[in-house]
Amino acid sequence: MKIICIGRNYVEHAHELNNPVPAEPVFFLKPETALIRSGLPFFYPDFSNEVHYEVELVLKVSKLGKHINEKFAHTYYDAIGIGIDFTARDLQSICKQKGLPWEIAKAFDGSAPVSRFIPKTEFKDIYDIEFSLEKNGETVQKGNSGMMIFNFEKIISYVSRFITLKIGDLIFTGTPAGVGAVHKNDNLKASIGEKKLLDLLVK
Ligand code: MG
Repeated sequence: MKIICIGRNYVEHAHELNNPVPAEPVFFLKPETALIRSGLPFFYPDFSNEVHYEVELVLKVSKLGKHINEKFAHTYYDAIGIGIDFTARDLQSICKQKGLPWEIAKAFDGSAPVSRFIPKTEFKDIYDIEFSLEKNGETVQKGNSGMMIFNFEKIISYVSRFITLKIGDLIFTGTPAGVGAVHKNDNLKASIGEKKLLDLLVK
């Protein structure tokens, strides 16, 4: 399986990192080794001094597809969870300055904790899904799928022009404003609506 991540999908987040609002989705990949399953901690990597959290809604792909028409894109995922796109912001800034790829800043081991998934059928309105992140008991990020620049269908359609989607692939759909640093012993809790789905310790 692979993990596909959308960047700059919320206007205020693009602005907070001084990035332009994109005309087309920006995406990058994380390998399977980036996944952290529920209950396990995140080990702070020794190669960064500035790891940021980015809370994101995550889609689980349920059907093989390539060149997926936006009209049918909703049939290619069947569950939604929440995850954190951990980013070594110090390394990413250097990559950006030098025009290099982002893998060392984005794809490292443990950079993609993901919650359990909720069947899509349990959501009243997928264009109005509230989600949030608490750090040490304080809410640090709040988002709503309705604020995304590119919605789920657009993302699936766009990505599948370049990369075949396979059953079990995960798509991180971008983070809202409020990203910030984590430190050892921090506790992160991510929720969809009132449901706390992810509880993660930084070690
Ligand atoms: Mg992200």
